[in-house]
Amino acid sequence: MKKITVLIAVLLLYFVQVQAQRSLLHCGQLIDAKSDKLQKEVTIVVEGDKIIKVEKGYSQPGEGDKIIDLKSKTVLPGLMDMHVHIEGETSKDNYIKRFTLNEADVAFNSTVYAERTLMAGFTTVRDLGGSGVNTALRNAINAGKVKGPRIFSAGKSIATTGGHADPTNGFRHDLMGDPGPKEGVINGAHEARKAVRQQYKNGADVIKITATGGVLSLAKDGSGPQFKLDELEAIIETANEYGMITAAHAHGPEGMKRAVMAGITSIEHGTMMTPEIMDLMKQKGTYYVPTISAGRFVADQAKIEGYYPAVVVPKALAIGPQIQNTFAEAYKKGVKIAFGTDAGVFPHGQNGKEFGYMVEAGMSPMEAIRSATIVTAQMLKADDVLGSIEVGKKADIVAVNDNPLTNISTMENVTFVMKDGVVYKSE
Ligand SMILES: [Zn+2]
Repeated sequence: MKKITVLIAVLLLYFVQVQAQRSLLHCGQLIDAKSDKLQKEVTIVVEGDKIIKVEKGYSQPGEGDKIIDLKSKTVLPGLMDMHVHIEGETSKDNYIKRFTLNEADVAFNSTVYAERTLMAGFTTVRDLGGSGVNTALRNAINAGKVKGPRIFSAGKSIATTGGHADPTNGFRHDLMGDPGPKEGVINGAHEARKAVRQQYKNGADVIKITATGGVLSLAKDGSGPQFKLDELEAIIETANEYGMITAAHAHGPEGMKRAVMAGITSIEHGTMMTPEIMDLMKQKGTYYVPTISAGRFVADQAKIEGYYPAVVVPKALAIGPQIQNTFAEAYKKGVKIAFGTDAGVFPHGQNGKEFGYMVEAGMSPMEAIRSATIVTAQMLKADDVLGSIEVGKKADIVAVNDNPLTNISTMENVTFVMKDGVVYKSE
């Protein structure tokens, strides 16, 4: 009898504690990213880190429930940016920082960028290349030690010798050395496999490659292919075997086409994407991550004398403005679009501007929002827990003051942020 009483008491206590963890979010308007309709007056019930109920009307709180009043706002799933570089941020002296910043400096800086990103409503990001601090930051955020978005980390980008993301490009000859697969530089299929396995060993979630030259690297050509087909196949096949998706930075058509043929998950930037490649991407189910924000930003900055090294300026002026047009074409053709900005190339926290650029280029606001929520979650193969406001999913929930379907710029001003059921911002 006594035992039963104790058991009941324990159960009651447990019940009360569970009750105390519930939050009722009263949403004036809701875009759940599951349907493509805006709903009015909905309650989302959050318990722990999960959404346990979504119901019509404003539900009354039970004992110990907490009400979060979002009646004047539009509520959305946590936003997801598929292309950021959380370790660094643009500045005039950026190129010299490789020689002046220690890993610890990079780490401290990255915590600032991570928090800014989260406060801008981005509860999940894919970091497409850094030094490895990105992966350590992911762990610190997951452990609750640092405030920031959930990170899917690529660790270090994989490049070929002298290619975009060879970390020694532009160095004095005696400083260049000969970086290999361990440092993310490969030549040949054998080294390609090793580089992927090394990233896996280092804790990467995804594999990033630089399929063509780049705008901001210290090299003159931004568009030529930089991997052979067999190298791409070796990378993508190995990554897939380890359960990792893949992303290819690509501006020029030949390198882009090879990456798509080899089975890449996403093309980043995609500047000179041809109609033929768009068709191939549709056929293969390849995602396009446009990063219009980065294109616009670098083209503007290139006009400021001395902001970028001389070799970068003509590339930035030529490639930058093209991305938005390519996006418009690819969208019209029906290529799958996953939201991504290349934040870090421009200041972190301004990721939301991309929505406006997408809408400006012809996408509907609802589709732009879905491309930053459910579509991105599908691309990450995480749509069982992320990407929409549905029962059983993680409580990653944000809100804006206006209706984004009629005023997309409101996405640049997220006023409520919840991640994993924890409120980080409430204005
Ligand atoms: Zn990038």
